[in-house]
Amino acid sequence: MTTTAIAHKHLLINNEWRPASSGETMDVVNPATEEVIAAVASADASDVDAAVTAARAALAGPWGSLSARERGRLVRKLADRLLERVDEVSRLETLHNGKPITESRNIEIPAAAECFEYYAGWADKVMGETIPVNGNHLTYTLREPLGVIAAIVPWNFPLLLAAWKVAPALACGNTVILKPASQTPLTALALGEIAVEVGLPPGVLNVVTGPGSKVGQAIVEHPGIDKIAFTGDTSTGKAIMRSAADTLKRITLELGGKSPNIVLADADIDAAIRGATIGIFYGKGEVCAAGSRLLVDRSIRDEFIDKLTVRVKKMVPGDPMDPKTRFGAIASRKQLETVLRYIASGKQEGATLVAGGERTDIGTGKGYFVQPTVFTDVAPEMTIAREEIFGPVLAAIDFADLDEAIARANDTPYGLAAGIWTRDIKKAHYVARKLQAGTVWVNTYNIYDTAAPFGGYKQSGFGREMSAHALEHYTQIKSVWVDLNL
Ligand code: NAD
Repeated sequence: MTTTAIAHKHLLINNEWRPASSGETMDVVNPATEEVIAAVASADASDVDAAVTAARAALAGPWGSLSARERGRLVRKLADRLLERVDEVSRLETLHNGKPITESRNIEIPAAAECFEYYAGWADKVMGETIPVNGNHLTYTLREPLGVIAAIVPWNFPLLLAAWKVAPALACGNTVILKPASQTPLTALALGEIAVEVGLPPGVLNVVTGPGSKVGQAIVEHPGIDKIAFTGDTSTGKAIMRSAADTLKRITLELGGKSPNIVLADADIDAAIRGATIGIFYGKGEVCAAGSRLLVDRSIRDEFIDKLTVRVKKMVPGDPMDPKTRFGAIASRKQLETVLRYIASGKQEGATLVAGGERTDIGTGKGYFVQPTVFTDVAPEMTIAREEIFGPVLAAIDFADLDEAIARANDTPYGLAAGIWTRDIKKAHYVARKLQAGTVWVNTYNIYDTAAPFGGYKQSGFGREMSAHALEHYTQIKSVWVDLNL
């Protein structure tokens, strides 16, 4: 077994590292080598219960009485310490997820740190208001924390998607139970270590690892948890919504996508080709907002696809730990099988394969590697045009005019993101308004900033992460009425 740098593989509950109460563990696999790199605790409902007890006690204890500014300082320390440990945490992210180390080191982990920094600044700026009501009253609002937040996150951006939830939750004065995906628990545990190092009081951040079917389910059903912040599959999101109804938990859901990337005939072709490539192949396509449907104006289609194919064929999967690698390993065997199944369905349903289409390796004979894949002549009703693949597979569809482009772009149950490539400023804004998506990128793709909200329309979920809007999802409002009649 290759050892990882992670010191703690137990559950973090009340600032103590404990094995699962059952003593069970689960293996973590490096998808680039297929080696087991760690065994972490596999918790069950009794561990969730212990975490809830700790998190509730922290609310009633020192955390609940800390001033907002002090809370902000602690959240800021999380950001600083994460950056001090950026090399080590990035290495863990790449080891369990298979993404290139350059993406972990230069993008994901710094973005997670920035998220803590951003919300640290909000801690003492979340405030109520005084309200001019009828009669002789002083009426004001208090914006209070919700209580215990459960953050349930997937395996594609394990630390960043945790930060999007943990940072605003803590800044607003809540306590947190973080449940990472079974495949990628290591960086959540590293965040737990950092929380203890910087002096977060016991119970404020708890990290509980284990399968979604067991730990996730126990979290969703637990009456001591006030809100679920979830990112993951749309079907899991629907199941969570149903289960959470019994205890009427608040929920925010960031779910799947099948995002359109539209190229109009007047676009800067080279820029659009770069954007189409980054849109689908960044993060191996395991990106909820991936531009997985490329909609190209029929008049430029042949030139566009030819140039795109040349570019894509140069993208070769490599060792994720090598700083020169730009395309890594699919995150798990299960996901590899899913991606290969969709590629087979594209071939079978009559799409034209112009790049990739096969499992590959990096000379070691090991690892879950797939070639970046492009299909053209994709009809809108084909499976690869409709279902989220969550892998490096691009479905190119053509259109005759702007109305058809918009209709096709919106012809999906999802609505997470969309891209539009054009030099015509009027068309850009016109299309941006017509698209049913939570984010629209114009002449760019796959860019994010902690200050800008992110989330879904339609079945891509509801609620917004990042930005000031997320604060609404981690607070509740109390109206206070004071009689001033003398
Ligand atoms: P998943 O739904 O299988 O798992 C997500 C998390 O939920 C994991 O921690 C898992 O253990 C847990 N879980 C599973 N079943 C559960 C249950 N019944 N109750 C509670 N928790 C449960 O998703 P995944 O395969 O890890 O991630 C891929 C999906 O995530 C894709 O659909 C992708 O589009 C989506 N995603 C969305 C966004 C976004 O911001 N909208 C971002 C990243 C990923």
